[in-house]
This record gives sequence, structure tokens and C-alpha cells, in this order.
Amino acid sequence: MAVKICIIGAAGRMGKNIAEAVYNNENADAAGAVDRKGSDVLGQNLYETAGCGKGGPVITDDILESAKNADVIIDFTGAEPTYNNLSIYEKAGKPIVIGSTGFSDEQKKAVEKLSEKVPVVLAPNMSLGVNVALELIKEAARLLKGYDIELVETHHNMKKDAPSGTAMAMAEAAAKGAGLNLAENAVYARHGIIGERKPNEIGIQTLRGGDVAGDHTVFFFGNGERIEITHRAHSRKTFAGGAVTAALWLADKPKGMYNMQNVLGLV
Ligand code: NAD
Repeated sequence: MAVKICIIGAAGRMGKNIAEAVYNNENADAAGAVDRKGSDVLGQNLYETAGCGKGGPVITDDILESAKNADVIIDFTGAEPTYNNLSIYEKAGKPIVIGSTGFSDEQKKAVEKLSEKVPVVLAPNMSLGVNVALELIKEAARLLKGYDIELVETHHNMKKDAPSGTAMAMAEAAAKGAGLNLAENAVYARHGIIGERKPNEIGIQTLRGGDVAGDHTVFFFGNGERIEITHRAHSRKTFAGGAVTAALWLADKPKGMYNMQNVLGLV
């Protein structure tokens, strides 16, 4: 039987792509759709708003009501709205896939607390390619001892958080592989007379422009050579498909905290 999904942030760039991915997946069905209070799309049908088909559940601003017949919730609203809705998600009592990025440490802890009550997938990037890249980056960092690690990410000009959640996950993977503490070694900006690069620095730089769905490159600079590991998302469909895969996987899991590596069977 199809897994029934409620999409929170239904009118967003990701929400619409997730609606289309659900529409095209015979193992999934949309059981509810929510956007913020005052949104123009309230009262519209999900698939029509997404431009992928006719009908679909009516978009409301009431999570508990919209999620009541769902097996799984998918939330792609942003760190702040997700954080503000955590108590409602606890009340709803459903497994939840969270794709929002940019959580502070405190907000992340609150998400972890929710996972004591319901199963939670929290992943800053739902694509198979990025999650494989995370493994490659960790391994490269382990093998390339002493190489300078730098990371550049590029996203569209509407993105609100920086660096991207994916960039931070890649930086974490590199730090782990190299045996470094990311918080102690991350450098987010360079300007002026900054002196020589410290050997353990992990530079993380952000570009914003146009409609880029998401590009990430991790550089390992050595003497006389460098290795670059790049992931380019051509479209948001890769994240949306991953979110639906995560929802189908999570539907029958016990409460707890999961990530995309768990969903994809990479760990
Ligand atoms: P967006 O601004 O286009 O969409 C967000 C949607 O959420 C909007 O329709 C907005 O009205 C709605 N919203 C805001 N507050 C709400 C609330 N309280 N209740 C219900 N709906 C609410 O943004 P986007 O580009 O779709 O990205 C959304 C989030 O997903 C961002 O944090 C982004 O970084 C993240 N993202 C994650 C992945 C991944 O693979 N995990 C991929 C792409 C984007």
C-alpha cells in the first residue's frame, strides 16, 4: 500500500518538487499539504500548485489537521519554521523527514529531542550523489595527510543560509577523515593581511547567484598537485526524489535519529 505523505512548505521550491516526486511515485501518496499562514496558495490543490497534475490534498496552514491521515511528514520550510513547529510535530506523533538546513547547535539539539519521541531523518542533502561524495571526501582526507583542505559552494540567489548544510556536512566529513576538529579549524572568510595559511585550516567559501541548484567542490591541495571532489546538482529533483525515498524508508522505523547515509544503506 502507498505510504501517505504530508508535505510542509508545499509551495516552496523544494515543496513543489517533492509534490511532483510523490505524484510520480506509485509507492507514495499525498495525504496533506501545509504552507505558512497568509500564503497565497492556501486553499489550492497540491498537485495543481506544483504544476504536475490535477487535484491532490488542499493546502492548509494547519499541520495537525493536514497530517492526521499521513504516515510520514516531510518538512522543507527552513531552519526557523521547522524549529518553531517541533512541538506540533511531537503532538502529531508521525515519522518526519526534515530537509531544512541552517540549524544552530541549539536548534539541532531540539530536533534530536524530537527523535526521542518519533523517528526522524535529518539530512542537509537528500541526493545519492552527495551522500556518496561524503564518503569519498572522508576517505580522501584520511589518505591525503598534510594536504590543504578548502571547500567552495555555490547556490542560487534566494538561498537564506550560508554556508550550505551540504557544505558543512562535507567539511565535517573532511575534518573527520583528517582527524581534525572542524569547529577549531574552519575559516569562513579571508580579507586583508591574513598571514600564512595554518596547516590545519579548513577553508569554507560561499558564492551566491542566479539559479544554481547547488555546486560543491572540496579541494585537497598538495605540493605539485591537487585533487578536487565536485558534486553538481542539475535540478532539485534529485533532492526531492531523495526526500520521498527517505519517507518511504522511515515509515516503519522505530523512533530515533537517522540520516541519509542510513536511508541509502551507505553505513
Ligand atoms: P522556499 O523558500 O522556496 O520554500 C519554503 C516554503 O516553506 C515556502 O513556501 C514558505 O512559505 C513555507 N513556510 C515557511 N514557513 C512555514 C511554516 N511555518 N509552516 C509551513 N510552511 C512554511 O525554500 P526552498 O528552496 O524550498 O528550501 C527550503 C529549505 O530546504 C531550506 O532550508 C533549504 O536550504 C533546504 N533544502 C534542503 C535540501 C536537502 O536535500 N535537504 C535541498 C534543497 C533545499
